[in-house]
Amino acid sequence: MKDMRREVLYDRSQIAARVKELAREISDDYQGRDLIVIGVLKGAFIFMADLIRALSIPCRVDFIKVASYGAGTESSGRIKMTKDIETELTGRDVLIVEDIVDSGLTLSWLVDYLKKKNPCSLKVCAFLDKSSRRKVPFTADYTGFTMDDGFVVGYGLDYNEQARYLPEVYIVKQ
Ligand code: 5GP
Repeated sequence: MKDMRREVLYDRSQIAARVKELAREISDDYQGRDLIVIGVLKGAFIFMADLIRALSIPCRVDFIKVASYGAGTESSGRIKMTKDIETELTGRDVLIVEDIVDSGLTLSWLVDYLKKKNPCSLKVCAFLDKSSRRKVPFTADYTGFTMDDGFVVGYGLDYNEQARYLPEVYIVKQ
């Protein structure tokens, strides 16, 4: 990691400002509702922590963990759930919080999976969106930043389990 060349893509103040805007939008949309926020581990944990603390409405939280097996930085599309949620979703308003939408395969799978638990509503908030990389059509209901192709680390996102702790988002340079 010490040798990884990287450049700041979004700094702390850009991230904080965007998270605040997203939280305001979500708080307006879910006013008076019983919101359950489901974070996708591990990448979304920092974004989710900031987002829910900026909400002006109450929420409950849960986590799900999925792995998609493939070589290097490419998603294979073979999704495996390694930790399920522990909350009953029937009749609830559910918001999935994810770090990044790339091919769209993970979130498509997650939405299908969680829909089977009969929530009253199911929406997705993604911190980053690489919209040009989709293998399946997928649009998040709330998006932090739309970025070009490239591999990013920091703010919860890792490279071989490193760099999640960095408070900024960096683009990794080849
Ligand atoms: P998808 O299924 O949409 O292809 O990819 C979803 C997952 O791939 C994300 O949740 C994330 O864990 C990982 N991913 C995709 N692009 C990046 C990236 O640029 N950096 C990191 N650290 N992970 C990524």
